Amino acid sequence: MAIEALAKPASTWCAHCKPGRGCAIYDRRPAECAAFACLWLVNDLVDERWKPNRSKLVLTTSEDGLEIRCDPGSPNAWRREPYASEIRAWAEEGERNDMTVVVIVGQRVILITPEHEFDLGIVGPDERIVRELEGAKVVGATVMKVGEFDAWSKIGKAGSTG
Ligand code: SF4
Repeated sequence: MAIEALAKPASTWCAHCKPGRGCAIYDRRPAECAAFACLWLVNDLVDERWKPNRSKLVLTTSEDGLEIRCDPGSPNAWRREPYASEIRAWAEEGERNDMTVVVIVGQRVILITPEHEFDLGIVGPDERIVRELEGAKVVGATVMKVGEFDAWSKIGKAGSTG
């Protein structure tokens, strides 16, 4: 993940990370590092199988739903069981509740729905995923720059209320 205080972009090693040992500046790590907790740590429903060093997956929530970050060194870890079935079940629940489930492998983002995988390629921090819906069902997905997205959302709102 990106760490703003260290100007560390996503998908790059942190200069303070010592593989096999941990954080070299743990006692004085940035506040955003100290505040971070993945779902495996804080949600009892996410069991031991999801422990990141075992699953090669890190679960977090976003404003839009659930993000599953997959170790780029094991890019297909999310396709293994029991993970694939559970991710699909979350996608079904997400579609019912208007929430997204995305798998992130390095910088590549894949939107998972009950029936499809939408491989969106690299989605930058200045971009947003836009879903095409038929009722609650996601039938398409694309990526827009934040500015375009904001303008598009306003038009959408005006259309629906006007
Ligand atoms: S916890 Fe330490 S190693 Fe991890 S990103 Fe923060 S500073 Fe880097």
